[in-house]
Amino acid sequence: MTRRFPPLSPKCPHFLHGGDYNPDQWRHMPEILDEDVRLMKLSGCNAMSTAIFAWTALEPEEGRFEFGWLDNVMDKLADNDVYVVLATPSGARPAWMARKYPEVLRVGADRRRILYCVRHNHCYTSPLYRRKCAIINRKLAERYKDHPALILWHISNEYGGECHCELCQDAFRNWLKKKYDNDLDHLNRAWWTSFWSHTYTDWSQIESPAPHGEMHLHGLTLDWKRFVSDQTIDFYLNEIKPLREITPDIKITTNLMGTYLGIDLRKFAPHLDVVSWDSYPSWRAATKEDVELASSVAFHHDLNRSLRSGQPFMLMESTPSVTNWQLVPKLKRPGLHFLSSLQAVAHGSDTVQYFQWRKGQGSWEKFHGAVVDHCGHENTRVFRDVAQVGEALKKMDCIVGTTTPAEVALIFDWENAWAIHDACGPRREKKDYLPTCVSHHRAFWKRGIPVDVIGMDDDFSRYKMLIAPMLYMIRPGVADRIEAFVRAGGTLVATYLSGITDENDRCHLGGFPGPLRKVLGIWAEEIDALYDDDRNHVVMTPGNPLGLAGESEASIFCDLIHAETAQVAATYRDDFYAGRPALTRNCFGTGAAWYMASRNEEKFLQAFYDELAAHLKLGRALDTDLPEGVTAQMRTDGSRVFVFLMNFAQEERTIVLGKGKFRDLLADKELPGRVTLPCYGCFVLERG
Ligand SMILES: [Zn+2]
Repeated sequence: MTRRFPPLSPKCPHFLHGGDYNPDQWRHMPEILDEDVRLMKLSGCNAMSTAIFAWTALEPEEGRFEFGWLDNVMDKLADNDVYVVLATPSGARPAWMARKYPEVLRVGADRRRILYCVRHNHCYTSPLYRRKCAIINRKLAERYKDHPALILWHISNEYGGECHCELCQDAFRNWLKKKYDNDLDHLNRAWWTSFWSHTYTDWSQIESPAPHGEMHLHGLTLDWKRFVSDQTIDFYLNEIKPLREITPDIKITTNLMGTYLGIDLRKFAPHLDVVSWDSYPSWRAATKEDVELASSVAFHHDLNRSLRSGQPFMLMESTPSVTNWQLVPKLKRPGLHFLSSLQAVAHGSDTVQYFQWRKGQGSWEKFHGAVVDHCGHENTRVFRDVAQVGEALKKMDCIVGTTTPAEVALIFDWENAWAIHDACGPRREKKDYLPTCVSHHRAFWKRGIPVDVIGMDDDFSRYKMLIAPMLYMIRPGVADRIEAFVRAGGTLVATYLSGITDENDRCHLGGFPGPLRKVLGIWAEEIDALYDDDRNHVVMTPGNPLGLAGESEASIFCDLIHAETAQVAATYRDDFYAGRPALTRNCFGTGAAWYMASRNEEKFLQAFYDELAAHLKLGRALDTDLPEGVTAQMRTDGSRVFVFLMNFAQEERTIVLGKGKFRDLLADKELPGRVTLPCYGCFVLERG
């Protein structure tokens, strides 16, 4: 079956290549615009994200709008075949607005209203701010709806943070009333407020969490985070209303931030036409850590591809050289810019975009990497790196709109992350939900096996394997769907700290892992938290279903479990629970459910998943064993298959390509059966 998604805009059926472009900062130097256009063409850039923080330039005083400068920019870019991803300006507001209408300014958890400063600091409830956004967005849409440069809307910028003003407190209480059917007893039971006599007797007593107030009532802290997510999305929906009305054919996105925990981005994604995100990894300089970091970046790209079920996403921001706000803004080593840009494409991005096009002359981001440096010309290493990416993307048109059909799904869930973070136990530190998800994902990344990163409410039925690390919170209905998945032949892998609480962070009664007990066939009686340097060991049981042998280290968490209907595949070696099950498999329906009772070292995860992958015949991007530091990722439309072969190791690596013929898409030539990749090398292949 062929499956190719439409391009981001029919006007530009190619990869988008470009960056955040702030011509509003250069209006006093009009010659810069002509020079920018020349350099854009030279660097192979075809799309600019424009006017992201340009509110004061567009509305210098209340009700007086100035679009002339932006008309000129849009016209000039269109004349030169450069398209515009046009922003709405709510990410930063004018000083005049903050002075005249203090309600637009955010109030912190400490209940202090901020002064006019920085950006991303608006109250998302303020009716005034919502009105002001709707007015300027309508004007932008009306003015540019038919402009040939406009291909996409970029709404605001990196939505995030929270506001605790009285308007938000009222909105929160109304949100709670709706959720709990106006029934305060219902809320009190859900939040277990009888603890410490915290029972609310009137809605007005409920306040948002605060460092000098309530932080320990987990039902409250969870619902507050849900409210912040919902209110942010509601603010966004208010922003896009005039755009939907006036430009129904122009797609809409906002730049998300990976696994940023302030907003449930999986709830945001259905309201976008295309997902985009900003990626700023702290690359080292060709060290072992780069390989781990690369796998973490891969996890985030997979997450963004999965947010809209495999639809290509956008790499909206990345740095062409340094990220100035990082503690050590290290230069990208030669080759790394090309590799990290194509890594996004390998996992499903249809764009490579940067922050920023040109370095500003002053203020906070004047040292942030840019395509055009303060020297102002093209004779720089960074400019050449960017032009190299532009050149490559032009040769890859046939990949636009393709996707990655994964047979493995890994659950990363925002509400679960919040609940684990808030819980006082079973350890205070190193619960490490996200790093644990990344380490399970890495075992597949190293083998070139595609993985989707999904939520617990997503459809499991299209996968062969479902991995659910630390599924501490189980929302209603999830366990039933997991059971159905396994019964129908699926393979589940669950771990310690699963099935502990319900959607309100109340513990499941009747034995852990709560509603997963039946499918996993175990009872988790206790969990041992280990000190940092404590180790236990996991010993494979002779004759275990995976045929694995030997022992490996366990740390941080060890569940003390009883196998009920499950078979024991490994046991603990040490301590008073030596000999008790550490790994089990429960045959359930026509599938199987594995339980990993301890946090195991990477060697164990790799061996375990290698055997499962072989047993389930999981498809790989390349039918070959990849050397350390090398990964292969795949995109396809169902008939043509493209493989990205990437080397994140410190040294060159030789790869045997395995079965099939391979054409190097960038060099346009057939490849021999063995290829060598230098450090940070990358091939884009078409499999024949
Ligand atoms: Zn507010």
